[in-house]
Amino acid sequence: MSNSFNDLNLNLDIIKGLEKQGILVPTDIQSVVITPALENKDIIGEAFTGSGKTLAYLLPIFEKINTEKREMQAIVLAPTHELVMQIDAQIKLLANNSGVPVTSMGIIGDVNINNQIKKLKEIKPHIIVGSTGRVFDLIGKKKISAHTIKTIVIDEGDNLLDPKRVQVVKDIIKTTMRDRQLMVFSASIKPETLEVAKELMKEPLILKSEAKTSINPNISHVYVTCDRRDKFEVLRKIIAAENPEKALVFVNDNEDIELTTLKLNYHNKNCYAISGNISKEERKIAMDSFRNGKIKVLVSSDISARGLDIPDITHVFNLDLPLKLNEYLHRSGRTARGTASGTCICLATDKQLNIIKKYEKEFDIKFQEKRVYRGVLEPVRRYQE
Ligand code: AMP
Repeated sequence: MSNSFNDLNLNLDIIKGLEKQGILVPTDIQSVVITPALENKDIIGEAFTGSGKTLAYLLPIFEKINTEKREMQAIVLAPTHELVMQIDAQIKLLANNSGVPVTSMGIIGDVNINNQIKKLKEIKPHIIVGSTGRVFDLIGKKKISAHTIKTIVIDEGDNLLDPKRVQVVKDIIKTTMRDRQLMVFSASIKPETLEVAKELMKEPLILKSEAKTSINPNISHVYVTCDRRDKFEVLRKIIAAENPEKALVFVNDNEDIELTTLKLNYHNKNCYAISGNISKEERKIAMDSFRNGKIKVLVSSDISARGLDIPDITHVFNLDLPLKLNEYLHRSGRTARGTASGTCICLATDKQLNIIKKYEKEFDIKFQEKRVYRGVLEPVRRYQE
């Protein structure tokens, strides 16, 4: 494990660029991934959003790209449009701050392919960041030159290597040269990830951060009990009581997302929904308005929120509890980024209290029970007889 970017053999311009972004010390996943990635090893990295995984793979790519060639040299595949745009933005930011002239382009579906083709020809980006379907299309049309690609990254591998989506990923990989490097990052390394790895990789290294995944201590965990049918009303009251600066509300079902958003807006809570059901333009408006503070509440599913890196979220609400235990970690991790503190509030029925106990045990955290009383969210005191 290394405690400095200097020890990781990155060039000084990149290190200075990172400094300008306030990034001084490598995260765990960065310190285990960067050296073997620079040595062109195939890698399966266990890392989730917030661990610094994007730079773990981008820094070695930056280091290795031959900027004298106007040639496509790396492809990063990601499952959602927002994540594609976010990774592309990280590349542009670092290129700008470091002065290393690496170019990139985000390639997503649902936009005019002819415009993309024109732009690809103009920029000849070193790095393509894209969603799988459209990238494969453009390789087929010979607009992305697969034979010059030296590195492929699969971000959010647990999603992209899911049996339903894996074929197109394999198809893309197979169009590239055999000696290219392949890196897969996944929140958990599942058997299907290993199977694909065996097929496509040369002796992959499996790398995890040493630190046990733990929840940021700056997050307070709260639950409020209520009947299922009262959940929305209780959420509305908590939002009124807390008046959050920026809140993310998690709902499991797409239809409920829309309904919750409509109801919250009816009560004057300036809020937007992001779910698979809304158009790309609406998603962009929602994300931009949330980022710049025009709206304070964003209602989302786990999938839509995947990979979103939005600073300053003060509250996370679980109107529905997550379906998988580990998802609690991801959801609550949306708040208290960096040194800020934040609150994660679960609305739970009596029957769901055993799930809250599971979170406490699994993640070694303590919940506080609260209720809304006279417009204030206050601790519930239980007196033992
Ligand atoms: P990621 O896990 O890639 O989504 O990164 C989450 C956030 O952490 C991003 O905003 C990064 O800019 C930031 N970040 C990445 N690496 C570091 C680091 N070594 N030190 C501080 N912040 C970092």
